[in-house]
Amino acid sequence: MSATEFEIIRRYFTRQSPHRDDVIAGIGDDAAVLQVPSGSDLVVCMDTLVAAVHFPESTPAAAIGHKALAVNLSDLAAMGATPSWATLSLTLPDSDPVWLEDFSQAFFCLADRYGVELVGGDTTRGPLSITVQAHGFVPTGKFLRRQGARPGDRIYVTGTLGDAGLALQLGDQADPVLRQRLDYPEPRITAGQLLRDYASAAIDISDGLLADLGHLLEAGGAGAAINIDALPRSAVFVTAMQQPGLTQPDRFYALPLSAGDDYELCFTVPAQSCDEMEATLSSQAIDYTSIGVIEAQSGIRCHRANGEVYQFATEGYQHFGGTGSG
Ligand code: ADP
Ligand code: MG
Repeated sequence: MSATEFEIIRRYFTRQSPHRDDVIAGIGDDAAVLQVPSGSDLVVCMDTLVAAVHFPESTPAAAIGHKALAVNLSDLAAMGATPSWATLSLTLPDSDPVWLEDFSQAFFCLADRYGVELVGGDTTRGPLSITVQAHGFVPTGKFLRRQGARPGDRIYVTGTLGDAGLALQLGDQADPVLRQRLDYPEPRITAGQLLRDYASAAIDISDGLLADLGHLLEAGGAGAAINIDALPRSAVFVTAMQQPGLTQPDRFYALPLSAGDDYELCFTVPAQSCDEMEATLSSQAIDYTSIGVIEAQSGIRCHRANGEVYQFATEGYQHFGGTGSG
């Protein structure tokens, strides 16, 4: 490692603050040594963000620092895990102190909120790319899976859908609230933890509801009927859609169905557990919406609130479409 790399690690990524008790050796040794509590399974995930591929080059450093960790914590949330540690592999074109300060501050701001300690990483020179590995715990055997949805289970999502996708489309014109949703996604950690007792399956929505629900259904060998009028849309999303030029019905439905980057959870719950699940989430002020039901017939069928089948004009959606009444 070069002197500059050493300086970057020391200056921006090594912290004096108290360490987690389960970190026996953290940054500064050849590898981290970590203790998994007894009675827990270790949950591990990794995600890479590459400039101009996963985020526009103009994205602020703080947003990149937040998002690099947030997308990983979102994967842990979808598994029902409690986050504990992270490692960070940074490939940087240069060592810009302002960029590094903003990036690391936002990274640690989110890490601190969820009690995550950065325990190691790697720093190299090259085109901007950030890889984070996140670790967490679940009580033994209690993790949530994509597999497990059964016909009759109700399908839910947390929060609202389509905000990040609309922000991406509008660019500089996007309302700051929408922009925030794209740049600073909030991992639904508490929801994931609470759902361990209720959900038959869960996934986080990174690629869009239809795509990610599709993964959940493939894993479980089932299908789904979705009420597109029930899809949760934020007030800013609805307002933005009322502006001239944006009022295309297909977009009003297409963004919540297929735009990525929302990082909400999509999960299924057996009918007999729905009331209790809803009461539990409500008691923690977690927003959720029931959007449909699991069916035995494979594929995703979309319908309006009145039961009318909804067919997309856009070709791209046919892959997920169907002809059932739903
Ligand atoms: P080695 O050469 O033995 O692989 P490095 O020089 O890559 O070690 O890293 C030295 C220490 O700094 C290690 O503990 C490593 O985990 C940590 N580290 C390196 N880069 C980062 C980073 N971007 N964030 C956090 N820790 C890092
Ligand atoms: Mg070494």
